[in-house]
Amino acid sequence: RRICIRDLNPHIVCILCAGYFIDATTITECLHTFCKSCIVKYLQTSKHCPMCNIKIHETQPFINLKLDRVMQDIVYKIVPNLMENEEQRRKDFEKVRGLSHPNKNDSFSSKDDNGSHFDAPGRHTYKYDELINICLESQQGLTMSKCGQIEVMRKFVRCSVRTLILHVKKLLPRVWPILRDKELEVLCDGEVLPDHYCLKYVWLARWTGKVETNYKYLNIFLLIHFIFTEIPNDTSI
Ligand SMILES: [Zn+2]
Ligand SMILES: [Zn+2]
Repeated sequence: RRICIRDLNPHIVCILCAGYFIDATTITECLHTFCKSCIVKYLQTSKHCPMCNIKIHETQPFINLKLDRVMQDIVYKIVPNLMENEEQRRKDFEKVRGLSHPNKNDSFSSKDDNGSHFDAPGRHTYKYDELINICLESQQGLTMSKCGQIEVMRKFVRCSVRTLILHVKKLLPRVWPILRDKELEVLCDGEVLPDHYCLKYVWLARWTGKVETNYKYLNIFLLIHFIFTEIPNDTSI
């Protein structure tokens, strides 16, 4: 089934400027989204959402604004050439103003995902990233608790959407020590995920084709399974 971009427009167009979201920014109180520059400007004279008039915050409305990277990615994915045009527009602007490009990592391209590492200090700031909730679960029925009465099967982790599958693999042995030195495979929806995929990509790939859902109200959530190839020796714990 083909979906007409016109049908999606109400969800990806900013009512303040009538253009597609740029730096999509969502009000956490009502989940309405605008361009960052549009809503920041608007809130200089108001503390209410321009769409539903909810009071965003008693005194500091900016506290309840959140850069919505997943929404921005969706817009860039749906609208042809928007990302390229916006990057070119920024470059032109900087050239005219004689500005350098100080915040390369802050651009919207995900090209730099491949080279990023958690342990490279200062290389990336994940602090302001859109977050994703993942649920880690063993496909082989591994429990997390070693001695407690309650068998804990799942581990919920909230992390940056730029987290790579490689990072997930590094995290797993910390939660399940039994996985140390084991060969790990990470899966989503039964599909094995390569190390260089970021969670944002996995989530977007899953989202595709599910346009009918009102994604604005979807929790950004992924169920991640893992399997290890070597059968652990029970006496080694
Ligand atoms: Zn706008
Ligand atoms: Zn609102």
